[in-house]
Amino acid sequence: MQNLPDVSRLSSRVVRILAQNPGTMTLSGTNCYLLSHGAGPDIILVDTGSPSPSAPAFIRLLSEHLRTTGGIIRDIVLTHHHIDHVGGLESVLASIRSSGAPEPKVHKFKTPDPGSLRPSRSVVSDEDLEASVRVHSRNDSVINWLEAGDLIGAIELHGFKRLRVLHTPGHTSDSISLLLEETGELFVGDTILGTGSTVINDMGSYMHSLRQLQSQGAKVLYPGHGPHIATSGAVATKITEYIDHRLQRDAQIIQNLERNQQGSTAAELVESIYPDLPERAVLAAERSILAHLSKLEEDGKVTSTPVLNQDGRLWSLSFEAVGQTRNPNNITQG
Ligand SMILES: [Zn+2]
Ligand SMILES: [Zn+2]
Repeated sequence: MQNLPDVSRLSSRVVRILAQNPGTMTLSGTNCYLLSHGAGPDIILVDTGSPSPSAPAFIRLLSEHLRTTGGIIRDIVLTHHHIDHVGGLESVLASIRSSGAPEPKVHKFKTPDPGSLRPSRSVVSDEDLEASVRVHSRNDSVINWLEAGDLIGAIELHGFKRLRVLHTPGHTSDSISLLLEETGELFVGDTILGTGSTVINDMGSYMHSLRQLQSQGAKVLYPGHGPHIATSGAVATKITEYIDHRLQRDAQIIQNLERNQQGSTAAELVESIYPDLPERAVLAAERSILAHLSKLEEDGKVTSTPVLNQDGRLWSLSFEAVGQTRNPNNITQG
């Protein structure tokens, strides 16, 4: 894990403050970005880090930075509903309120499929977020629910163009990216990380999102975790690597299923594709393989059938994918 400084100026407009929540999933900690137009005090804050116990240390860094620069947070944008991005919202709002600064507007893309969210400690629902905004609001304000193509930024001054919202689902269904069109700076939340690969919930929409990001021709990329990517060449390479990595994984899965025509469970595929995986990483790998399998099933390349007496499915190549070489008796109704 690369150690990043707590506070870094990354461009004339962007400062990164690390939420003080390092870990295996969060790397050096969640990157929270302060975006200014350079000439005045107005700031857009992208993401708020985790709740306590890490929130107070982050709030200290943030308040100190605002105090020394005279910055005023006008807008807070949340990239997606994971707790390491939205969990610090209450603390940030409380600290702004107690400082007497004006109340910022909070923006988020509404989770499109709230019913399908499994209750877990890593996800915060839109209702809970709205409740925390109300608690810390002087005038009972609510979240501004974003749509793709929206522009964020209450104030347009000194040539500061606003942030354009791109809906980039895949890591989560509500993931957004933000493009500062004037400079080609792109904030991607956890859709792309500075190092390593990200957890994916829906592979079909994820691949679509990567291609959407690729087509922006961004010059700088600011991920939710890990170092930023500072040249347009490196940004293009990074996105291409992410796309290629997923296509290679698809190919590996298909090769495995070709070799084992009786079908395989996701766990068996994990064993074969990641032979020396440490125990603690097995579940995450299985989720990732399942995300690939679901997309391959949508594409008509694989089929699945429930495994008797087990919690899982048996996956095999679809008849179309193997052509005439396959014994049709093995084809299952997925
Ligand atoms: Zn996330
Ligand atoms: Zn994250």
